[in-house]
Amino acid sequence: MSVRKNYKIAVDPIYGRHLVAAKDIEPGESIIDEPPLVYGPVSTGNSIYSTEVEDDVCPVCCLLVKEADSDSHICDKCGIKFCSTSCSQDPLHLSQECKIFSSLPNHPLKSLRRKTLYILINVVRCLFTRIYNPLVK
Ligand SMILES: [Zn+2]
Ligand SMILES: [Zn+2]
Repeated sequence: MSVRKNYKIAVDPIYGRHLVAAKDIEPGESIIDEPPLVYGPVSTGNSIYSTEVEDDVCPVCCLLVKEADSDSHICDKCGIKFCSTSCSQDPLHLSQECKIFSSLPNHPLKSLRRKTLYILINVVRCLFTRIYNPLVK
């Protein structure tokens, strides 16, 4: 077992690697504080087969993008909608999904449902993790 802060990493023959408390943990106390390996937008729709209208979610900051947002911006390279021009110019977007999606002929993304588009964005970001995430070697 290796000891880190308030938890230990243990190995169980049935369950594999897992965390075990190394001390009494108070309610509300942080146990782990690490940046996410990958993050991205999630659709507001309930089901992939749902016909309800899905809200736009900014792929960079993950906030809802309202139609009335005067600062909302559509990337002129890939056609994805953002909450702001600054988010559409974020290196996270430009170096990953924008690079892939804008190279596709006929901009097929425009016909995708948001839920499908957001899944694709997250898959691309997972695939780029080895290249762009310094924590992954
Ligand atoms: Zn944003
Ligand atoms: Zn783009």
